[in-house]
Amino acid sequence: MAQSTIVPDLAAIAAEKGIRFFLISFTDLFGAQRAKLVPAAAIAGMQKNGAGFAGFAANFVLSPADPDLVAVPDASTLIQLPWKPEVGWLASDLKMRGALIEQGPRNTLKRMVERARAAGFSVKTGVECEFFLLTPDGQEISDGHDDAGKPCYDASALMRRYDIIAEICDAMLSLGWEPYQNDHEDANGQFEMNWIFDDALITADRHVFFKFMARSIAEKHGLRATFMPKPFMHLTGTGCHAHISLWNGDENVCFDAEDAMGLSQRGYHFVGGLIHHADALCAFLNPTVNSYKRINAPRTVSGATWSPNSVTYSGDNRTHMIRVPGKGRFEMRLPDGAANPYLLQASILAAGLDGIERKIDPGKPLDINMYTEGHKVKDAKKLPLNLLDALRALDADNGLRDVMGSDVIDPYLQLKTAEWNAHCGHLSDWERAATIDC
Ligand code: ADP
Ligand code: MG
Ligand code: MG
Ligand code: MG
Ligand code: MG
Repeated sequence: MAQSTIVPDLAAIAAEKGIRFFLISFTDLFGAQRAKLVPAAAIAGMQKNGAGFAGFAANFVLSPADPDLVAVPDASTLIQLPWKPEVGWLASDLKMRGALIEQGPRNTLKRMVERARAAGFSVKTGVECEFFLLTPDGQEISDGHDDAGKPCYDASALMRRYDIIAEICDAMLSLGWEPYQNDHEDANGQFEMNWIFDDALITADRHVFFKFMARSIAEKHGLRATFMPKPFMHLTGTGCHAHISLWNGDENVCFDAEDAMGLSQRGYHFVGGLIHHADALCAFLNPTVNSYKRINAPRTVSGATWSPNSVTYSGDNRTHMIRVPGKGRFEMRLPDGAANPYLLQASILAAGLDGIERKIDPGKPLDINMYTEGHKVKDAKKLPLNLLDALRALDADNGLRDVMGSDVIDPYLQLKTAEWNAHCGHLSDWERAATIDC
């Protein structure tokens, strides 16, 4: 969707396109999508003044005594729901007392993109959305025949889910996202759908919408789509690899044809920032208790987890945290399906920009197979083993705090620490079995 300075008139668009309702949506700190359904007759006022919410009721650090959290829709994001075109979806910017609130995830990404722009770069990103299709109760893979030991790219299992995959892909085609491939992924019941990269904010809005769309269309077909990082211990988890490149007009500023990895000095510094801040980044990229069953995981039945276990970078090699597949593009393989789409990109960008600003040395690239030879690399930093370690690393990372802002990091830490504490308040079956006869 091209950004335009002329703000589209949503009431007029509704009349022209037969939109009966608008879904004025925002994403909270945990990545959950919240919305109000507003009839077209009321959209003119909402477009101007926003829709009011009690912010405390969503995942924000706000109080029930606070005034309205106001979601002001960004008309350039309008999407008619492909499975219900009479409803128009809109992403919003969050305000309170007339000002943008820093803990609004979309606001945070906009600030980071602006920081990049001030440093002379525009930011292009792509995300690889993986998901499982499960039975409606979320307990099992929906396709009983999808049981191969190495199910990646399985043509028959893919075709047994054709109706859902084709409907989602057709929707992306009609929206102009330029999807280009869909496959069965490395776990039974797991799929991936890809569309091409664009400006960071556009990709993040699409990422949010994609998750909503995949869930909605799967549900329509009687199944449940989940982006949970590790729904089954023995199977490969659900990643959300993020690709990023920095541009000055048509020039990729991280690319250098003369360099062995195709990276400019700035490119190496960007990697340096990702390496330096990696453990703190996990708090955003691997944001749930369950996330840590995907990274650092033992080998899955397919033969490889495809997720990183150490803080390393490489060329076109999928066993490292950062892969440089060529031409000044970075693939961050750390994020999983639970990451907040805006904070995912905002935190990666913040870390990379800090690397550029402070000229952080990434150390040497490695081209070994990290899954089989990783133990030989004595000085590679390991990733946090659990959410609490990641939250502590984020709390201690003053560099990332300086770039992203305490006003988003502190509320995030507060709510995620509460989530960790809630987890600790549960007695597991394993715990009982391991301790009952102590
Ligand atoms: P993989 O080989 O890692 O599975 P995919 O084809 O599944 O790769 O996904 C690659 C993603 O990276 C896509 O969204 C693609 O558009 C995006 N991408 C490609 N080039 C760039 C680039 N220069 N900058 C940002 N994203 C890019
Ligand atoms: Mg009310
Ligand atoms: Mg892929
Ligand atoms: Mg994949
Ligand atoms: Mg990938």
